[in-house]
Order: sequence, then structure tokens, then C-alpha cells
Amino acid sequence: MPVCPICNGFTTFYENCPLCGLPLQDAGVIQDFYDDYSAYLEQDIYEDGYRHNNHAVCVHLFVCPHCHFDTNVSFRRLNQD
Ligand SMILES: [Zn+2]
Ligand SMILES: [Zn+2]
Repeated sequence: MPVCPICNGFTTFYENCPLCGLPLQDAGVIQDFYDDYSAYLEQDIYEDGYRHNNHAVCVHLFVCPHCHFDTNVSFRRLNQD
């Protein structure tokens, strides 16, 4: 069963906000937001299949604590062996 390296703490992802340069914070796995934001996310999901969680990727939401920029980042799941 492939696992997400971020969810499992194997690695840490850092990226700076393209607008103000502060480090983005991992706000969680996109799946966690489906209930509250399903209508909001629906369009993106159908536009781009890689934007939702599946067997190959885990999608996290990263947000800027300063200007509230947000972006989705897909992490390829790793096989454990
Ligand atoms: Zn993950
Ligand atoms: Zn920012």
C-alpha cells in the first residue's frame, strides 16, 4: 500500500509564498476539506485529475499565514518495502 511521505513524516515540504515570500504552511490533506468545501473544489477536481487524492498521489493544501494565498501540492505516494 503506497503511502504519502508527508503524511507519514518521511520528509518535509517547504515552499515560500509567491506573493509575500513567507513559508507556506501545510493545512492538511485535501480530502479532509471535501465536506466543507466540496462545492468550491468540485471544479478543480474535474479539470485536473491529479488534484485529488488517489492511489498515486496525496494532495495537500498549503496556505500562507500572512496573505492567505493557497495552493495544492501533489505528493507521489511511496511504496513501502
Ligand atoms: Zn499526504
Ligand atoms: Zn503570502
